[in-house]
Amino acid sequence: MGNPPTELIRCARAIASGEERNDYAFVVRDGTIADAGDFKTIHERNREVPARAFPADRLVIPGLINGHSHAYQILLRGWADDMPFEQWRDEALYRIVPKLAPEDVYWVFVAAFSEMLAAGITTVVEFFYLNGGGNAHAEAVINAAEATGMRLVLARAWMDNPKAPAEFRESVDQARTRTLELRAKYPPSTICVAPHSLHGASEEMLRAAARFAREEACDLHIHVAERPDPAGQISALDRLGVLSERTVAVHAIHVTEEEKDVLASRGARVVYNPTTNLYLGDGIADVSGFRRRGIPIGLGTDANVKPSILGEMRAASYLQKIRCRNGQALGAVAAYRMGTLDGARAVGVLAGDLTAGAASAADFIVLDASGVDPWSPARNAVVYRAEAHWVRATFVNGRRVYAGQPSPLALAARSELAALARRLQL
Ligand SMILES: [Zn+2]
Repeated sequence: MGNPPTELIRCARAIASGEERNDYAFVVRDGTIADAGDFKTIHERNREVPARAFPADRLVIPGLINGHSHAYQILLRGWADDMPFEQWRDEALYRIVPKLAPEDVYWVFVAAFSEMLAAGITTVVEFFYLNGGGNAHAEAVINAAEATGMRLVLARAWMDNPKAPAEFRESVDQARTRTLELRAKYPPSTICVAPHSLHGASEEMLRAAARFAREEACDLHIHVAERPDPAGQISALDRLGVLSERTVAVHAIHVTEEEKDVLASRGARVVYNPTTNLYLGDGIADVSGFRRRGIPIGLGTDANVKPSILGEMRAASYLQKIRCRNGQALGAVAAYRMGTLDGARAVGVLAGDLTAGAASAADFIVLDASGVDPWSPARNAVVYRAEAHWVRATFVNGRRVYAGQPSPLALAARSELAALARRLQL
């Protein structure tokens, strides 16, 4: 794709560190934000840098962070709606996904990533478990991210439950060796370990994954407490030594107060998937309780019925208000942070803001601001009113990867998917 551009981005309207700013500017260099502040000051300091300006009918905000996704589940949309969880998993997911060749995976992920970029998502954590035959499928995902320009973290799943499809299963040794191979071939910061869950991975595999995360200094993503479990899944993981500051607990819905304290004391982080949890009837996570304990919590689109972090921010807020019967339970400020800076922290990505500090990846989106009421804080409009069609452009590493309409690659992926659906008889 060539070197990322060096540019001064001038924004008549922007949101930086959660606050609305007028005539704001930042300098993109080597894919990161090298300088940021009032336009005058930034321009003074960077006179040689070519400028790109966005006028007052545009609102520039950080790219949105998708902390948990299984992009291939877009193939289940429609025909597998409205099933109980076990039926959805066993008769839909487990029937279709094992049939995908690496080339199919590539096109499904190109389609899904294109959809996400068009919805303003610039980082995605793909929790990927089609690994039973080796790394070919995982590499197809990495290639799809490269082709579309999406920032990818591949949370490479480990699974050895004998009831899972053979195409998902590996021995501990295979999973370990293959994950190391990926980390040697690609930037190690983009590949981490993801023992599937307490039901998907044996105790031996869970322990080995925790050891792997420690030795490799990488994150460990795991599904936990998505469904009620009287045994207490957080406690079980803690007994196995799985919980640490490297752990990203995905879902964490059915969790006791004591278990929330355990998550906090271990330094674990959480990714919440409100739309998928609604869709599958799972429940509502105690976001307020996690935030009160200082646990970083982000958002994910998980089953991708409609991959949109704008939608997840809104769902997270509304659900928390209902859960607590309190209109203040999770307001626009907190929900916006979950989709940006807190989401980035939750998955260990240096992104989610428009400043030159630690969260400095030059990932940003340009929204049509005509839907923002003049009397409304822009941040509130983003959380409660924005739709995907507000997104007019998406930039990752300072490079424009979406320009307001589907790219030729995105269109090609849609027609490949139509052919795939016919072959799979969806
Ligand atoms: Zn998941």
